Amino acid sequence: MNAPTVTRRPLPVALAGTPLAQEVAGLDLCVHCGFCLNACPTYLALEDENDSPRGRLVLMRALAEGTVALDDTGVGTHLDRCLGCRGCETACPSGVPYGALLEATRATVAGVRPLPWQARAILGVFGRRPLLRSLLAVLRVLRSSGIASLLSRLPGRLGQANAMLASTAPALPPRRGTATRAPEASARESVALLTGCVMHGLFGHVHDATRRVLVTNGYTLSDASGQQCCGALHAHAGDRDGARTLARANIAAFEQSGATFIAANAAGCGAMCKSYDHLLSDDAAWAARARAFSGAVRDTSELLAAAGPVAGGPLALTVTADNPCHQQHAQRLVREPALVLAAIPGLDVRALEDADQCCGSAGIYNLIEPDVAARVLAPKLVAIVATGAAFVVSGNPGCHMQIGAGLARARRVQRVVHPIELLDASYGRRD
Ligand code: SF4
Ligand code: SF4
Repeated sequence: MNAPTVTRRPLPVALAGTPLAQEVAGLDLCVHCGFCLNACPTYLALEDENDSPRGRLVLMRALAEGTVALDDTGVGTHLDRCLGCRGCETACPSGVPYGALLEATRATVAGVRPLPWQARAILGVFGRRPLLRSLLAVLRVLRSSGIASLLSRLPGRLGQANAMLASTAPALPPRRGTATRAPEASARESVALLTGCVMHGLFGHVHDATRRVLVTNGYTLSDASGQQCCGALHAHAGDRDGARTLARANIAAFEQSGATFIAANAAGCGAMCKSYDHLLSDDAAWAARARAFSGAVRDTSELLAAAGPVAGGPLALTVTADNPCHQQHAQRLVREPALVLAAIPGLDVRALEDADQCCGSAGIYNLIEPDVAARVLAPKLVAIVATGAAFVVSGNPGCHMQIGAGLARARRVQRVVHPIELLDASYGRRD
């Protein structure tokens, strides 16, 4: 595959004042070396340079310089197909801020090329808490009644959506009771849990486990009421105003909690909250508050790593860990999630080939671009099955549902679990 021909034109950009114009310096860092190509799931799946990081950066430059119209559908297709996984960022030796460039480009394009109606409908629901909570309540009924599992056998998007929903049912027996600080744990800071939207509605058992393991490791819990969706779906889709509105609501909610740290147990939400400082950097009323907020956000694995974590009781399970992109690429966390699993005696952790590759979930991507998402997922499923592990570990709800649905629709028996669920189950063995 040949590298694209790059025509350098003088900056400043033609689209002064747009989000892309504000980020355009990042484009200059790209030296077109191509080291990112094999880290890009869409390039590997589609074998088109325009669907690679290097190719998309060339397209972004063309948009920024005005040599291609913002509403060019061909360019839009290649940008839409990007997962936003940021695997290219960790592979890039030049420090190209790809994620920020992608979000800025999508926000700029969204001004002239409306999002597909499906995306607008989903983002509209996620931006309205009462509506979202009602929808999630209905989804819980579909899940607990077994209807979702039944409908997951249907072909197409309906079957896929129901398989995703069915995969959110707890895979481990519930652990009852309240946790207390382990005798060997020191008293630590106060923490408020980022409850989020899908995590709150469909992964309440993971939130319960998170609260217990934090207490076991010496943290005290604070309540941050009034939280909203983190806004990641909106920011990644180009709805920057929607993301900002949600960010301000969350900052206000956590300020009143008085907590030292904000704990995120969903990698995508944690990465988004850590970027509120960037999202609101040009908002004079909120910039300092956003910086303080982002500085306090921690992935739960970071808090646990700082505390040890406390070792659990024996748990004789075979697992393989898939690293969520927004944990390893966006937050650069690899050691901390590994420490969580290492605190579980007896756990048989099997290496997963290409664990650093995206699974194709990417927020609402697998609902908007189902064909590409399925092609990206296919090698991941093969690698998971090859490990022979009974459980796949993932610390992100989108990845959980994408992989869980893929396994179920391939008639595989493996289940997906959150690493904190495993640690919590292990703590249950030491009580
Ligand atoms: S690795 Fe970085 S510098 Fe090289 S082509 Fe990719 S984005 Fe550009
Ligand atoms: S974010 Fe992921 S899908 Fe998009 S260009 Fe980078 S590696 Fe490829």
